[in-house]
Amino acid sequence: MFDLTGKTALVTGAASGIGEAVAKALANAGAFVYVADVDAANGRRVAGDIGAQAAFCELDLIQGAQTCESVKDIVHAEKGRLDILVNNAGIGHVGTILETTADDLDRLYAVNVRGMFDLTKAFIPGMIERRHGVIINTASIGGVIAIKDRLAYCTTKFAIVGFTKCLALDHAGQGIRANAVCPGRVETPFVTKRISEYPDPKKAYDDMASTQAVGRMGTPEEIAAAIVYLASDEAAFVTGTAFEIDGGFAVGK
Ligand code: NAD
Repeated sequence: MFDLTGKTALVTGAASGIGEAVAKALANAGAFVYVADVDAANGRRVAGDIGAQAAFCELDLIQGAQTCESVKDIVHAEKGRLDILVNNAGIGHVGTILETTADDLDRLYAVNVRGMFDLTKAFIPGMIERRHGVIINTASIGGVIAIKDRLAYCTTKFAIVGFTKCLALDHAGQGIRANAVCPGRVETPFVTKRISEYPDPKKAYDDMASTQAVGRMGTPEEIAAAIVYLASDEAAFVTGTAFEIDGGFAVGK
């Protein structure tokens, strides 16, 4: 429906779950997609599934600014520019402040916030120079409302929403749009692994499904569809939003 022919995109966390679906959906819409992830085996699998319109790019976001600069240099050398940056990689943690160590918080912050900052900082000068760029950051419904026992996770996701809004405001006059997507629970390895750790996984699954007003979890493809729209020229008037795609998780809260 949305045509991204001729665009170059990079998706972090594209070896699994939501990122995998986003990479495939962007390629389906015509974009060339860099599948960026620390998981090389699955990253290569996803790029291979897509075929000629994708390349795997190894990236560990905790390695810092220099690594992100190197990724930018590769993309610019091969494609000349980046049109669409999807900062999607993220890690989770369960616990109240009493169950969260400072190291837990630092680890989540390093991937979810600092990694996003480093990669965006690497690509944004080129976008400003061309007066064109779309940045989409995967936050969470936990970046808009509090989720019980998710102190470190929600802290980073609220930070992502703030980061996105500031980017949008600072660079709107330079042809750049920045939006966050805020999924409710989506059935991916991120969630199924967590569920398997509960004493009663079936009950945990049902409980997580029922936190959405629609009574089920989302699919990665449902999040990817919104990201394709946000990446497209049809969304030219959309910037600075925290787009809740949550099956009604937050309705009434
Ligand atoms: P997932 O675990 O299936 O995929 C996450 C990907 O990120 C993996 O491929 C992993 O290798 C990669 N990654 C982790 N650390 C990395 C690092 N240091 N450098 C590069 N890549 C790294 O998870 P998912 O459910 O697809 O989640 C994707 C994003 O969506 C995350 O930001 C998550 O917080 C967010 N989210 C997920 C849900 C959900 O219910 N699944 C809900 C709201 C938000």
